[in-house]
Formats: sequence, structure tokens, C-alpha cells
Amino acid sequence: MKAEKSSPRLSYTAPSTESPWSTYLTQIDRVTPYLGRLGRWVETLKHPKRALIVDIPIEMDDGSVRHFEGFRVQHNLSRGPGKGGLRFHPSVTLEETMALAAWMTIKTAAMDLPFGGAKGGVRVDPRTLSRHELEKLTRRYTSEIAIIIGPKRDIPAPDVNTNAQVMAWMMDTYSMHVGFTSTGVVTGKPVHLGGSLGRVKATGRGVYVTGREAAQRLGLELEGARVALQGFGNVGSAAAELFAVAGSKIVAVQDQWGTLITGKGVDVEDLLARHRAGHGIGGSPADDDAFWDVPCDILILAALESQLTAERAQRIKAKLVLEGANGPTLAAADDVLADRGILVVPDILCNAGGVTVSYFEWVQDFSNFFWKESEINARLDTLLVEALRKVWLYGERNSISLRTAAFVVACERILTARQERGLYP
Ligand code: NAD
Repeated sequence: MKAEKSSPRLSYTAPSTESPWSTYLTQIDRVTPYLGRLGRWVETLKHPKRALIVDIPIEMDDGSVRHFEGFRVQHNLSRGPGKGGLRFHPSVTLEETMALAAWMTIKTAAMDLPFGGAKGGVRVDPRTLSRHELEKLTRRYTSEIAIIIGPKRDIPAPDVNTNAQVMAWMMDTYSMHVGFTSTGVVTGKPVHLGGSLGRVKATGRGVYVTGREAAQRLGLELEGARVALQGFGNVGSAAAELFAVAGSKIVAVQDQWGTLITGKGVDVEDLLARHRAGHGIGGSPADDDAFWDVPCDILILAALESQLTAERAQRIKAKLVLEGANGPTLAAADDVLADRGILVVPDILCNAGGVTVSYFEWVQDFSNFFWKESEINARLDTLLVEALRKVWLYGERNSISLRTAAFVVACERILTARQERGLYP
């Protein structure tokens, strides 16, 4: 066996030094004046309930041992078990995971799902691992966090660079720990292992549904609308497909590897096929700044957090911004967008399709009764439309942004639960 070594910290340059956690804290400060007497409990939202840091030693295929750092943060469990994805990415930190967990608390409450908020992450570039190494990493991570997860405690799901296969390994590992098959411990599993039809594309579908509703209120026709898209992964590609079906033109796509800008619009099916075959999206380099100047009607952010800085917000041409990613817009950029009259559908509604179908999956697992895909998509549409309608109304009545309105609606639910439960002991 070779000597132990630490995993290299792969470089990732964020466009801003503002951390996602400080973006989140600013959002909470902005909402506090609207919380009335519930404001008394707002501090609870500024502190994660529980955070676990785990060491994941893995024997690599070449016989060496590498150590990876992983996290599971449970931000708030006042309204139910923790819910939130698992991310494999070289830029994962505890602070980032805290912010992502907190946004899950707000998101599940904004959707009125019976969950709290949680998130997990491992600092790793999964493309540098073999399938066998990735499976070992997933299983050891699951084993380390098994003391705090479970179908009634905290239920992970896929996020950046994790998928149904990773969820199947997590489910199997947890089941080995408890001694029986526990399908409800994760969502986003393969369909024949208790997964839900419609889950894979649910987040992208939610981006489309909330975008459709917002566009309608703006008087913006989707037929012929020009869409610029950052991120062509699970969320971005599924959203792009639905916008293309609605007749929109995808005029720009940027991902980790390239930037494609084309006035005549891309053939989404063709791009997906090339992407699946490992050819990437092509075009100019990934950091091509021209992406932010592209003439478009709708900008979809479906990559990572902190992408839309105040400087970029000054330049974008869109009338509508859809936050498929979590926390893609910095607080200062929010102000610029508000000044420029650009409507933002905030992440906690825009990308809530994933957690909503995860909720459906969890319910189906408990009842062992599975629904048809058409039923799932219809229920998802209904819940998203209703959540957006309530938030829109609240925002209009109080002359505040959709983000602040969504936060108020969500925080009222969380803090009411906090108040009614009281403090233990
Ligand atoms: P993914 O790994 O499938 O795709 C991520 C995409 O972002 C890829 O196309 C990648 O190339 C691109 N990307 C990464 N870094 C980039 C950079 N610096 N510049 C431009 N593009 C970059 O992940 P996903 O599941 O599609 O998640 C995307 C976002 O949506 C994340 O913020 C995630 O938290 C959020 N989200 C995902 C889900 C879900 O169900 N998967 C649910 C809610 C929110």
C-alpha cells in the first residue's frame, strides 16, 4: 500500500469574494422588518442547528490513500426533517454548505413542504475519480453521516455532480447500517429503487413553470423569446428543452467548459446529444465575458452560486432572470436589477421543482404506492403556480421584490413553527 496523501485543492475562481453565507445573511436582514412580532425569533435563522465535518479516507485504484473532507449541515428542522442535496465539487466548503442548507430551509417553507433545510458536500473533483473510487467515496461519506440522516431525520438528494447512481449507493449503504432496505433515506434514486418518475427533470421543469408564469405577468411571449442560459447540467438542460418546446430561442449557453453564443438559436436536442457524448457545448472559452452582454429576453442561471455580480447585473439585457441555481445573484446585484426594473424569480421558488418532486418521492416511498409521471408533473405545476401566486400577491401588496416576498412568506411559516414549538428545555 502506498503512503497517505491529502486530496489536492482544485482551483475554482468565483467571480466575487462575497460568500454565499453572507449573501444569505443579508437576505435575512432585508426580510426582518416585515416579520413583525415573529422577528423576535429571527436569530434562529442565522445559526445552523447542526453541522458535521467528516474525514473520508479512500484507498485509490493505484493503492495510495487520499483524504477528502465532507460536510452535512442541518440548518433548521422546525417544520420537519432536513431536506437538501449532496454536492461533489472542488469548491465545497463548510460555509458554502451552511448557505445552501439555509436556502433549503427557506425553500421548503416557501413551498409549504413539511421539511426543514439541510445540505451536504464533499470537496472533490469527481471527474478525477474512477467509478470504483467514486462509489467508495460515496459509501464512506454516507457511513460517516449516517448518525444524523434517515427518512424521518434528514433526507439527501442529488445536487451538482451527483445523480441517481450516487443516491442508490447512499440508500444501499444506509440500509446496510440499519439492517433493512430504507428507500426513504434519499430522494432522486433510480425509479426501480423507489425513485419517482419525473424527478430527474423536475428542477428544470420548475424553472420553466415559474418562468412561464412570470413571463405571462410581464406580458412576455415565450414563443420567440430569446433565452441565455448559464449551466447546461441537470437543471439547465431540462429547462432549455422545455423553453425550446414552447418556441423560445436559446441564443447563448455557457458551462464550465465553453460559451456558445448564436443569434439564430441552438438546437437543444442536438446540443444535448453532443453533450452526452462527451463533446461539451463547444464555442469560445468558459470564462467568455461576452455572455453577460448577449441580447436576450430571459436569462437562466443554472450553474453555481455568486455568478451575477453588480457589474454583470448592469450589463445584462434580459427582462426576466430565472434562478435555476442556488444563490446565483449577489445582494448588490439584486439592488441593481431592482433599479433597472428586471424581474428576478428567486431560487427558492424557481428551482423548487426538484425538492417538490423529492417530497412526492418521499411520500410514495412511505406509502409504497407510485404515481404516474403525468400525475407528478400536474401536481408539480399546481404547487409551483400556487406558491408563486401567493408570493406575487404579497410582493405587490407590499411593493417589495419577489425574493423578499418569498422570504417573508417562508420565514413566517418557519418562525411560527419555532414559536409554537417553544424552546427546549
Ligand atoms: P450539474 O452538475 O448537473 O450542472 C452544473 C452545470 O453548471 C454544468 O453545466 C457545469 O458545466 C456548469 N458550471 C459549473 N461551474 C461553472 C462556471 N464556473 N461557469 C459556468 N458554468 C459552470 O448540476 P445541477 O444539478 O444542474 O445544479 C445546477 C444548480 O442548480 C446548482 O446551483 C444546484 O445547487 C441547483 N439545484 C439543483 C437541483 C437538482 O435537482 N439537481 C435542485 C435545486 C437546485
